[in-house]
Amino acid sequence: MEQYEVIIVGGGLAGLTAAIHLSKTGHRVLVFEKNTYPHHKVCGEYVSNEVLPYLKKLGVNLDKSGAVPITTLRFSTVKGSGLKTELPLGGTGISRYAFDYLLYEKAVESGVDFIFDSVNSIEYKNTVFKVVTIDNRKYTSSIVIGAYGKRSVLDKQLNRSFIKEKSSWLAVKSHYRLADFPDREVGLHNFKGGYGGLSKTESGAVNFCYLASYQSFQKEKDVERFHRNVVQENPILKDFLSRAEPLFDSPLTIAQVSFEAKAPIKDHVIMCGDTAGLIHPLCGNGMAMAIHSAKIASEYIDAFLSGDKMNRKDMEQGYIKKWNRTFKRRLWFGRQLQSLLLHPSWSAFGISLVARQPWLLKQLIKNTHGKPINE
Ligand SMILES: Cc1cc2nc3c(=O)[nH]c(=O)nc-3n(C[C@H](O)[C@H](O)[C@H](O)COP(=O)(O)OP(=O)(O)OC[C@H]3O[C@@H](n4cnc5c(N)ncnc54)[C@H](O)[C@@H]3O)c2cc1C
Repeated sequence: MEQYEVIIVGGGLAGLTAAIHLSKTGHRVLVFEKNTYPHHKVCGEYVSNEVLPYLKKLGVNLDKSGAVPITTLRFSTVKGSGLKTELPLGGTGISRYAFDYLLYEKAVESGVDFIFDSVNSIEYKNTVFKVVTIDNRKYTSSIVIGAYGKRSVLDKQLNRSFIKEKSSWLAVKSHYRLADFPDREVGLHNFKGGYGGLSKTESGAVNFCYLASYQSFQKEKDVERFHRNVVQENPILKDFLSRAEPLFDSPLTIAQVSFEAKAPIKDHVIMCGDTAGLIHPLCGNGMAMAIHSAKIASEYIDAFLSGDKMNRKDMEQGYIKKWNRTFKRRLWFGRQLQSLLLHPSWSAFGISLVARQPWLLKQLIKNTHGKPINE
């Protein structure tokens, strides 16, 4: 059985960031990823600038990848009325195809090992983890980071409580070409039972990604009808979809998107990114949280692995405390915001209130984002 100091399950933003950080601090790291790079992922592809200083420290420079600076938010109601406002901190438009690949290349350069296989089980016994892949290959380590995203068979194996609840959300994403789409703008546009984001990526393609309730989607049965009969009731989305050229053969879709509360540690596995908690996508902060949580976890893990500075119990409790202090409020705010904007009777009032008050929109953004990670 091959042995590592740290095994990371899942090579998305959280897993790759932790892999680079821990490898740079001198640890032997193995990442399991079930897909190969590069690949497209369902995501709004707007990353908050709060993580740029930390990424630079890790040697990852988004500017050089052609990523697009985003400075303005355009917000619209179901009927298409709304406002534009400057984003307090701003963001960057980059596809997950390019972003994850950039981090993967940096991880390889930093000495991280990769195995492209799905992990089936994680067990902790006598201070050692045993990680088993779908092909029954076995590896051991003293630390496991669970960075396998929103939902996985591993959540069942680890008996996590959120997995027992059915989620009522699905998400759809596709890239389009539209020459006159504004460069520096991210759009957040509402429709009945959901909302979608529009923003440019490094390739010049415009990403359209939305979250919709099953209830509203089920009535239409397929994406084409849903676009025609529901999404395009918003005139801004109608204008976009009627003029833009789709670049994917068919949109990517994911189901069972859960926003239930999760624990940052389960059976000694340190959860990072969406495995620890997913903020509502309308906040545009999930990627930044995934990267930031990887930083926090890596610092505790480094202290634990580097001699006698910290024991396992202190490491785990320290991580839980810091995770809650950093993210719990943002998640709570995101939950309230989403339930107000998508509430069957409050939504029209809530959306039009936000759409008329730039200061309110700015406050909402501030409360769902963090400060630049400079230390
Ligand atoms: C509709 C939608 C729109 C969004 N838009 C935005 C946005 O605009 N801005 C923003 O900041 N955030 C957004 N988010 C949130 C953001 O996408 C996530 O928070 C972010 O991807 C979390 O990164 P992660 O590394 O935790 O998970 P992921 O990026 O999902 O990575 C998990 C990885 O684990 C791998 N994996 C899973 N199971 C296994 C296994 N058993 N073995 C091996 N590998 C495994 C997967 O293949 C995957 O590569 C959006 C989310 C949704 C649902």
